[in-house]
Amino acid sequence: MIVLSDKINHLIETTVKTTLNELKTEQTLQNQIINLKNRNIQLENNINLLKTENNNLKTTFGKIKRNNKLLRKDNELIKNENYRFKNELENLKHYRKRIPRNLRHNVFKRDNYRCVECGATNDFTMLTLDHIVPRSEGGEDNEDNLQTLCIKCNLEKGNASWKGGGAVKIEDKILGAIK
Ligand SMILES: [Zn+2]
Repeated sequence: MIVLSDKINHLIETTVKTTLNELKTEQTLQNQIINLKNRNIQLENNINLLKTENNNLKTTFGKIKRNNKLLRKDNELIKNENYRFKNELENLKHYRKRIPRNLRHNVFKRDNYRCVECGATNDFTMLTLDHIVPRSEGGEDNEDNLQTLCIKCNLEKGNASWKGGGAVKIEDKILGAIK
């Protein structure tokens, strides 16, 4: 009897131990599951933050792209303008060299050292001599074919045959009214 009771006792002990161990393992697993769930929530939050960040970057990138496009256009315009300006300046320099000093002086004096189109003087701009009929169209280097233009009006006139006189006409009208 005693032996049997011992055996039963031992069996009960073993069973209880095993069950306790199983319970411990179960508890550990459940803890791990909770940890993994928490980790998952953190990762999802991180993903959402990254998504928002990504959207922000996309918007910024779009803006930069558009700005870049505008800047490129502006740059192209400035380049063209610069090129045109350089060419015109070269032409002006070329003409200047070819026109004799006293002829230049006479034309400036005749036009009262003012742009015949807008009335600007050397104080505010650079005065140039302009061929009314361009040399390329057969215009000659004489007083009748030369006029004083400021550099702005000269550039606007370009290579056209054109006689300025807006400012002079207005001035004459004013003077006429005073007289
Ligand atoms: Zn002018």
